[in-house]
Amino acid sequence: MAENQFDLCVLGSGPGGYVACVRAAQLGMKTVCVEKDERLGGVCLNVGCIPSKALLDSSEFYDLARQRFAEHGIGFEGLSLDLAAMMARKDKVVHELTENVRKLLERHHVSVIHGTGRLTGPGRVVVDLADSSKDPVELRARSVILATGSEPVAVPQVTYDGQWIVSSTEALAFAEVPQRLGIIGGGYIGLELGSVWNRLGSHVTVMEMLPRIATLLDAQVSRSLERFLRRRGFRFLLESRVLKASVEQGEVVVRVQTKEGEERLVFDRLLVAVGRRPRTRGLGLEAVGIAMHDKTGHVLVNARYQTSVPGIYAIGDLIAGPALAHKASAEAIACVEGMAGMDSEVNYDAVPAIIYTWPEVAAVGKTEEELRAQNVPYCVGTYPFTGAGRARCMGETEGFVKVLSHAASGRILGVHIIGPRASDMIAEAVLAMECGVTAAHVGRIMHGHPTFSEALQEAARVATACAIYGK
Ligand code: FAD
Repeated sequence: MAENQFDLCVLGSGPGGYVACVRAAQLGMKTVCVEKDERLGGVCLNVGCIPSKALLDSSEFYDLARQRFAEHGIGFEGLSLDLAAMMARKDKVVHELTENVRKLLERHHVSVIHGTGRLTGPGRVVVDLADSSKDPVELRARSVILATGSEPVAVPQVTYDGQWIVSSTEALAFAEVPQRLGIIGGGYIGLELGSVWNRLGSHVTVMEMLPRIATLLDAQVSRSLERFLRRRGFRFLLESRVLKASVEQGEVVVRVQTKEGEERLVFDRLLVAVGRRPRTRGLGLEAVGIAMHDKTGHVLVNARYQTSVPGIYAIGDLIAGPALAHKASAEAIACVEGMAGMDSEVNYDAVPAIIYTWPEVAAVGKTEEELRAQNVPYCVGTYPFTGAGRARCMGETEGFVKVLSHAASGRILGVHIIGPRASDMIAEAVLAMECGVTAAHVGRIMHGHPTFSEALQEAARVATACAIYGK
């Protein structure tokens, strides 16, 4: 095969792109990855999942030391915050993980080209190299996977300037703790970054157009999350629309239409976190004739991730569905295995969604509202963390587990957790749903004692009792 000729060319090295490359190489395909940024790993590793969780963990330690150590009988003097050191640690974590991706691709003999790729025809990609002193290169490939991810959506009358009015990328790297932080959008990105800065001392105000935060969550969970975050000092302006934001003498002035009328709010920084849109610009999609959703702009694909043009596939944030790293990776594997004639698919009914606030929130499957709307007969089992011995030991008793099961078959339809370590606990629920396990099974299998996951077992038992006894 000629030097610039490949079995597979993947545009983007995020959790969709790099996972596709590795799987393709394992299946014997000669693969090239084109990445426009200097570092591999995409949004997730560089400015998304990883740096946000590094800061969430660091800020949680600080908050624990400040607020909670005393109740465990631990006293100390001179607690201080070195924000630069915290940021340096976050950068180190990101660097190590992006290097791991580079080594992983190297080990699998995947060629990596740094530059911006665009389609010029089926199986043809031109790359404007990052080293602009060099001419663009043309690659030929039997198949192309588009995995170029997403970018932040803007709000009308609110212009990003990267310093005062920022996206999540800049909010992961503030040089000092903003005293007053405004956030437009009560979704998971706003709530997670709001939590980081709230713990480090910011007064956080979240402005959300809808009547509740994190609207995709089960309503009971979303209301609890709002209550717990208010307890930690968050201010929420719900059903509030931002009309305009401007920077005046080093402050951000926001005009917001609330239920009570128009308010003028002043912040040191304003984070806009109202969602992300697929990154399709400049990819040459129109020229090649790739169909996109006329409202959302997502690339349209079939169950095998094939676009409307033969040989061109799309995965991850670029296509419809939850914009999550693990969803992108699962699609990458299913897409590549499908190309190789294997029978792989993604179960979209069992995609876990997690919000890494404290308490954490994690969910999989249907919400109670969805089951009601679809007239599915269901049972509910809830169990509070106040009843879990381990939660008591740790002093982390906020929250509950909610199991929704089918009233007749007992099959688990949804699990919603708000509480300590929900992010790890949800894996058991995902496995149960993937395997079609019933609530009675989860209630019966042994769980280590004392653990947080006993709360899931107890909630499953309550749901089972509801199915058996009708209560
Ligand atoms: P991306 O990760 O966006 O990667 C796309 C890559 O393509 C990028 O590297 C980009 O530079 C490159 N690219 C774009 N255009 C071109 C081109 N023309 N040529 C070459 N390369 C190109 N998800 C979770 O599951 N858990 C979390 O905790 C989580 N936290 C998040 C926190 C934040 C602040 C943000 C912003 C997102 C978070 N996400 C999280 C979402 C997650 O980051 C995305 O769902 C995931 O990165 C999507 O993967 P992807 O491979 O589709 O695209």
